[in-house]
Amino acid sequence: MGQRVVVIGAGVGGLATAALLARDGDEVTVIEKNEQAGGRASMLERDGFRFDMGPSWYLMPDVFERFFQQMGTTTADHLKLRRLSPHYRLFFADGTHVDITGDLARDKLLFEQLEPGSAARFEQYLAEAKQKYDVSLRSILYRNLSWRDFSDPELQAQGRNLHVFESMEHYVRRFFRAEKMHQILQHTLLFLGGTPQTTPALYSLMTHVDFGLGVWYPDGGIYEVINALVRIGQQHGVRYLYNAPVTQIEVTSGRVTAVHSGAQRLPADVVVSNADYHHTETLLSDQRQRQFGDFYWRRRSLAPSAFILYLGVKGTLPTLAHHNLLFSKEWDTHFRQLVKHPVWPMQPSLYLCVPSKTDPTVAPPDHENVFILVPVASGLYETDQSRAEYADHILHYIETQLNIGIRHRIVTQQIFSVSDFASRYNSYQGSALGLAHTVWQSSIFRPPNRSKRVPNLYFVGANTTPGIGVPMCLISAQVVRDRLRAT
Ligand SMILES: Cc1cc2nc3c(=O)[nH]c(=O)nc-3n(C[C@H](O)[C@H](O)[C@H](O)COP(=O)(O)OP(=O)(O)OC[C@H]3O[C@@H](n4cnc5c(N)ncnc54)[C@H](O)[C@@H]3O)c2cc1C
Repeated sequence: MGQRVVVIGAGVGGLATAALLARDGDEVTVIEKNEQAGGRASMLERDGFRFDMGPSWYLMPDVFERFFQQMGTTTADHLKLRRLSPHYRLFFADGTHVDITGDLARDKLLFEQLEPGSAARFEQYLAEAKQKYDVSLRSILYRNLSWRDFSDPELQAQGRNLHVFESMEHYVRRFFRAEKMHQILQHTLLFLGGTPQTTPALYSLMTHVDFGLGVWYPDGGIYEVINALVRIGQQHGVRYLYNAPVTQIEVTSGRVTAVHSGAQRLPADVVVSNADYHHTETLLSDQRQRQFGDFYWRRRSLAPSAFILYLGVKGTLPTLAHHNLLFSKEWDTHFRQLVKHPVWPMQPSLYLCVPSKTDPTVAPPDHENVFILVPVASGLYETDQSRAEYADHILHYIETQLNIGIRHRIVTQQIFSVSDFASRYNSYQGSALGLAHTVWQSSIFRPPNRSKRVPNLYFVGANTTPGIGVPMCLISAQVVRDRLRAT
């Protein structure tokens, strides 16, 4: 403690680590490439609209609460949270739609209509999801695990119930036959970057996250979480530098000694990088100190990238709820197009968020704030013209599928896609999320949060443990802090 710490990147993981280390008494500087904090959770203000550029689902409220309490405060001190109802609206390829309300009794009635007998089986499914979530939080996610820890009696006892080596597809089919039930329970995989065949059934815990813990929204938008993290850091003395891309991590005699941003040199006793893992290692002044070369990264499974439209739309969109998912009739094909056969999907499943349904402050009066996200493969080639054409195709597709008019009412529009993820966040192959959550890229198989070659270089965020998502990155900060204190 009392060390000079430089945190590279002001994403969720970087901001949270900075706050924790400053609370402990370190002298912390966060150095960020872009003009604002937030990383993938940045904010775009345009023509009176305020868009959350990345995350829009506030899930796992218990994890947020735990982090805020670690910092001596509570979420209620910083955020005005409300539980959404419905949680989300699902549009199926046959033209029908349903609401997942988060009210278990109502949701079970719905499931019973989709597949007679499924309500009782759902209870069992949900109980198993809760058990997985509880074990994961208690024994896995908040720990710096090593092989030795797998002799932990609880982990061993619970191991079989976590279904790590069973695929989601196999697991879900053990409970339900109806295609719509499969889609309800597996749609999160579209964003985690796996397929139902490759993602471990451990991730059925997302059903407890959804039905058990609820879908929440902080008034003002998710960027309020970023504002809170910056504020808390400031209260503990964290210094923030923006518009300052790190150009080199100086390594002398096997240890990091400073971080460079152009002509600026910041001496450091410890560096924690929140920038993407691959990019961080390319910054090392001594490239022999890289743990993972290009050969390693080329063989990783990446989570998808995303084609995103931020739209300001005149008038209202009564067909839509706050969160909406449109399922493609080419559900399996779209999954294949994300991983095995990367092409721009023409009939994709996609996500539409209309936060102005809940929060009038994110759009001018009589307008809707619309965020459209199409999961697409990382590394896809695009040009200005192809982006514009694809945007038009997607809007036409949505209008046809949902029988709504959007294009003639757009008052502002911005596209954000694969090449933007690469240029704005230095993301490998323009992945929106980072390394996918396959079995062999999770837990002890994920790149470690401390370099094996440069002992005072640490990593935090979605590409290290435990993984993707705002709550995971808050946990990542806590485990990297614990590792730092343990050395
Ligand atoms: C479109 C989208 C939707 C999502 N939806 C959700 C959701 O609804 N709920 C949820 O929980 N999660 C969601 N996620 C995932 C979640 O947003 C991310 O997992 C999380 O925000 C990543 O945080 P991080 O700590 O890894 O840092 P990042 O956000 O990756 O930030 C890293 C920072 O490092 C900076 N940086 C990079 N290179 C340098 C350099 N050389 N010098 C200085 N700085 C540098 C970058 O500019 C960036 O600010 C979504 C992500 C995306 C992209």
